[in-house]
Amino acid sequence: MPGTLSFEELKSAVSGGTIDTVLACFPDMQGRLMGKRFHAVNFVEVSYKETHCCNYLLATDLEMATPDGYASTSWEKGYGDYVMAPDLSTIRLVPWLEGTAMVLCDILDHHTHEPVPHSPRAILKRQVTRLEELGYDAMMATELEFFLFEKSFDEIRKSGFRDMAPISGYNEDYHILQTTKEEGVMRPIRNGLYAAGLPVENSKGEAETGQEEINIRYSKAIDCADHHTIAKHAIKEIAWAQGHAATFLPKWHHDKVGSSSHVHQSLWVDGNPAFYDESDPLGMSDLMRHYMAGLIAYAPDYTFFLAPYINSYKRFAKGTFAPTKTVWSVDNRTAGFRLCGDGTKGVRVECRIGGSDLNPYLAQAAMLAAGIKGIEEKMTLAPPTRGDVYEDAQAADIPQTLRKATETLRASAMLREAMGDDVIDHYTRCAEWEQEEFDRIVTDWEVARGFERA
Ligand code: ADP
Repeated sequence: MPGTLSFEELKSAVSGGTIDTVLACFPDMQGRLMGKRFHAVNFVEVSYKETHCCNYLLATDLEMATPDGYASTSWEKGYGDYVMAPDLSTIRLVPWLEGTAMVLCDILDHHTHEPVPHSPRAILKRQVTRLEELGYDAMMATELEFFLFEKSFDEIRKSGFRDMAPISGYNEDYHILQTTKEEGVMRPIRNGLYAAGLPVENSKGEAETGQEEINIRYSKAIDCADHHTIAKHAIKEIAWAQGHAATFLPKWHHDKVGSSSHVHQSLWVDGNPAFYDESDPLGMSDLMRHYMAGLIAYAPDYTFFLAPYINSYKRFAKGTFAPTKTVWSVDNRTAGFRLCGDGTKGVRVECRIGGSDLNPYLAQAAMLAAGIKGIEEKMTLAPPTRGDVYEDAQAADIPQTLRKATETLRASAMLREAMGDDVIDHYTRCAEWEQEEFDRIVTDWEVARGFERA
């Protein structure tokens, strides 16, 4: 891909004067890029080996609070450092910023230099390794849906999040005319990402005013999660540079459709699709059936990793294309899992539960863990469901609130075995804290409803 650089190529670009800044970043628990901006000369001479960050960055929330209850770090432990180890295979240009390149880092323990188990990249790498030990590679694609607004983040914040007009005036699903009007933002996004080495497939209008989607070609799980994280970041930065806001909040208004991040998944052996069996009517191999059985059975265990905030659960509403049931069906958008590419080598399963706020490292890792369990136990896949799954009383529900998803995460023997107790305890604390904060806050809705009339 154009835009990806070897370390030698970066050094040449720095000595030639075309790159003067290197962003060294890592994905945090919320899937955001955190890190430092290096003078490029310092990076290529010294800091390419390692740099450091405060370890609260993997024990905080969207507001950068320092909640108690994390075993890994606390005020008592003095909030020490982590090592940020640049993964030099991820160097790329950042074409939408002048003279800038980026590298993603792995987070290591300051003393042992071992990967920090609850860092999102390490969590995904662990499941990828387990899968490789079984002889498979995971190929994944995560769709990104989001809303564009007329005004900028700053203007919207200053209005108290009241002045929030989406960039368009009508449902723009697959709409060429309306999306032409958004090309001022979307074309630099597609081209900027492509020139940064991300294999962009397309963008399209989605089923609400101001809603867009961008698709990036499927790739190995770690690359897919890196692409997702960089794309989400870039979309916000490029929209900001054009005077607009882009939000990945899954439900920015109760009267509007929500934003998802569907995850397409297939397993491969030596470059060949292992989910495909030409003798099966749907083209599904036994391996695929076992994987999907695990994916579906354990969906309640990992719902938190697909829906990590209070707001995430507002998206799960009947008749909105956001699924509420842990069943699968063939090319039917009302079920939690949809079979795509049936009968072809591109046969794959799409998980439709996740919101646009998911952290792709955690979501993919949890789903791989569930799929691996299905393969190991040769779990049986139930027949597909048909029709409007929202109305299917037999179909199991995903947890409908963060509180319930926290309990299913805490109690998950499957995830504890796959990821480790320390990791699950860490993210359970993260989920609890989100709930505690929400429970403490008096919302606008309560005041408007009860101020006079209660
Ligand atoms: P949709 O109509 O749902 O948008 P697409 O055909 O555009 O479906 O594919 C959605 C995503 O699935 C794309 O990002 C594509 O790269 C990915 N994809 C295609 N084949 C596979 C596969 N075998 N494994 C995983 N993802 C795949």
